[in-house]
Amino acid sequence: KLSRRLQLILEQIPAGSRLADIGSDHALLPVAAAQQGVIVSAVAGEVNPGPYEAALKQVKESGMTEVIHVRKGDGLDVIAPGEADVITIAGMGGSLIAAILGRGVDKLASVRRLVLQPNVGEDTLRVWLHERGWVLIQELILEEDGKIYEILVAEPESAAAISNDEVYQERVLPGGSMLTREWLLRFGPWLTRKPEPVFYDKWRLELDKMARILDSLSRSELPAAAEKAEDMKAEMNVIQEVLACLP
Ligand code: SAM
Repeated sequence: KLSRRLQLILEQIPAGSRLADIGSDHALLPVAAAQQGVIVSAVAGEVNPGPYEAALKQVKESGMTEVIHVRKGDGLDVIAPGEADVITIAGMGGSLIAAILGRGVDKLASVRRLVLQPNVGEDTLRVWLHERGWVLIQELILEEDGKIYEILVAEPESAAAISNDEVYQERVLPGGSMLTREWLLRFGPWLTRKPEPVFYDKWRLELDKMARILDSLSRSELPAAAEKAEDMKAEMNVIQEVLACLP
């Protein structure tokens, strides 16, 4: 059975899509998407031999070899221009996902939707999308097996029903603080609209982590430690303030 994380990613793929799942590992996502009749074709891309073999085996066992093509290669190298209209990249860091997209921009011209699930560095990925003319149309957050995941869904701004200026519209929080564009990129413009309990859990964990770093900085004798500690304190204050002001 598909994990809730992968199922939620799958649900963001429009019916009839030609999918490219990059870093597909066991190809669980394209296999389930094919079995559920969501996609007409898929490329499952893998750069590493172990996961590539696992994907080949999984696709063969599912009987979906006509629909899913398993290919070995780096990032978007495995697809031809125009071959995919939806790209999913899940389970890697946000900067790696951004680097993969950046190295394959010629393959993105035909893409109508990106469904991305960074394990860390969500803000880096949001900045990349924003700067490259992709607009977030939806963000999801979930907890599974003690980990918190975010799923970012983006469409080309030229085709999307909403613009980046609207999505990242700065707003005043009920407590009076300003949720600036910079902070919206950090927290997620959609996630802050109707924050779910797990969103607060994520940022409380983040604050705990920062408090531990602050603690070790305060005991450090390195010359830059004091300055770093001040920056971190200021950042923690903003996070606390924003969390306190969200509905
Ligand atoms: N996408 C699956 C998921 O979310 O469950 C698998 C995630 S797994 C943690 C990450 C996979 O990405 C690994 O199998 C790894 O080999 C693959 N990978 C890492 N860098 C890649 C790249 N540049 N191109 C293609 N695959 C890559």
